[in-house]
Amino acid sequence: MVHVIGGGLAGSEAAWQAASMGVRVTLCEMRPNRPTAVHQTDRLAELVCSNSFRGDKLENAVGLLKEEMRRMGSLVMEVGDRTRVPAGTALAVDRERFAEEVTTAVQAHPLITVKRIEIEAIPAGHTPVEPAIIATGPLTSECLSADIAAFVGTDHLYFYDAISPIVLAETIDWTRAFRASRWGGVSPEPASDASPGQESGDYVNCPLTADEYDRFYNAVTTAESATVHDFDQTKFFEGCLPIEVMASRGRDTLRFGPMKPVGLIDPRVARQPYAVVQLRQDNLAGEHFSLVGFQTQLKWGEQDRVLRLIPGLERAEFVRYGMIHRNTYINAPTVLRETWQTRQRADLFVAGQLSGVEGYVESAASGLMAGLNAAALVHSREPLVAPRTTALGALAYYVSHADAHNYQPTNITFGIMPPLPQAPKRRAARRLATAERALHDLAVWRADVGLKHDAQSTPIVS
Ligand SMILES: Cc1cc2nc3c(=O)[nH]c(=O)nc-3n(C[C@H](O)[C@H](O)[C@H](O)COP(=O)(O)OP(=O)(O)OC[C@H]3O[C@@H](n4cnc5c(N)ncnc54)[C@H](O)[C@@H]3O)c2cc1C
Repeated sequence: MVHVIGGGLAGSEAAWQAASMGVRVTLCEMRPNRPTAVHQTDRLAELVCSNSFRGDKLENAVGLLKEEMRRMGSLVMEVGDRTRVPAGTALAVDRERFAEEVTTAVQAHPLITVKRIEIEAIPAGHTPVEPAIIATGPLTSECLSADIAAFVGTDHLYFYDAISPIVLAETIDWTRAFRASRWGGVSPEPASDASPGQESGDYVNCPLTADEYDRFYNAVTTAESATVHDFDQTKFFEGCLPIEVMASRGRDTLRFGPMKPVGLIDPRVARQPYAVVQLRQDNLAGEHFSLVGFQTQLKWGEQDRVLRLIPGLERAEFVRYGMIHRNTYINAPTVLRETWQTRQRADLFVAGQLSGVEGYVESAASGLMAGLNAAALVHSREPLVAPRTTALGALAYYVSHADAHNYQPTNITFGIMPPLPQAPKRRAARRLATAERALHDLAVWRADVGLKHDAQSTPIVS
């Protein structure tokens, strides 16, 4: 038996993988009996913010990670591919169908029992071994957080980040906003792993003149933020800064960040705007659009006032406001082995955002490996470590070996994978070659360790 605590992205994937290896699983999820500050439903694998799993091309590290997961028989990827909505070369999903289908699949698995209870302490060890996987995410409940803190000591850290608002499509002023993608659909290279999927015209753009930008900038920098408990200890993840924090760094920071206009031409004036706010479709029906990179902790009334200064959003109705939230994670290098087991207890695993990774896909990926390895322990086999040249292996290596003094949760990037011995000069070619090596090494490794999922990979846009 494997005990999985937390039915989010990591926990659902972990339960699925362990059960796929023929092991009984109990999955304990505290919702709906005990809600969190951001989850809105009782479904497993609920996406709490963006509906994007980010880039889906092999030249993009998260695209590679997703492809590896497909080949490992990932439930999250199978359902993600099935519930895809248009988002250029990114994989974005219909959040409701996604969570619904993961929930149905997990609950219907004959070896998985889902219990709706809060677990308040780390489970004690069992003989014979019954491994436990803690996958309670960034909003781990208080009692369990306290017990984890006691277990890992002072290395148990937390910080805050913030989420983007969502608007109702019919309230966007389409005489101001225009649909387009950067570079008119032909991007020379993805700008970075963090800004994928901007190549195909799926985005709604709200253009600003210099005067409109100044008005917006002044409003953002003087608006009132929500107060946060323990605010002095606030540490934002650099890749997810609230707009008001970015704006406070200088007048042009937003214009070179989420409001950058490069590669976009406003068709009404046939030139590049001074600044742009981009919106991305958030559900399959196309009724909801989220403001890309516009996470914020402004008070909700202030969000109404400030965001309506954006041309095209003057009458926007907000389906969800941006907000600030707690993010709990362990200092992974001091706590975890490369197998996602804790250093102190071989039968105890940590997966998901709590384990010190960042992002939906990375959380599910860690759950995948933790689930396989917990099942291996039950079968008295050695836990598995994917080659470091794969994205799965690189992520595991990073969380267990990074500098513990300044540990920050990590997204998958090519930067944490070993360089190629003879790397092509061009970045796109280099990334593709690194991805090809990864998929080759994954296949060899899977054969070596006898992993026999007959996982079919889905075609990738490349
Ligand atoms: C507000 C917010 C916005 C985010 N936005 C994004 C984003 O846009 N894109 C992105 O890639 N990542 C985002 N993340 C980061 C991260 O990818 C997500 O939090 C992701 O859901 C993490 O997956 P997980 O499985 O680790 O945790 P979760 O999906 O949160 O799952 C953990 C589960 O454990 C349950 N639980 C907690 N404590 C207990 C307990 N004691 N007993 C039983 N059950 C418990 C919770 O109810 C929850 O269902 C965001 C995080 C937060 C908090």
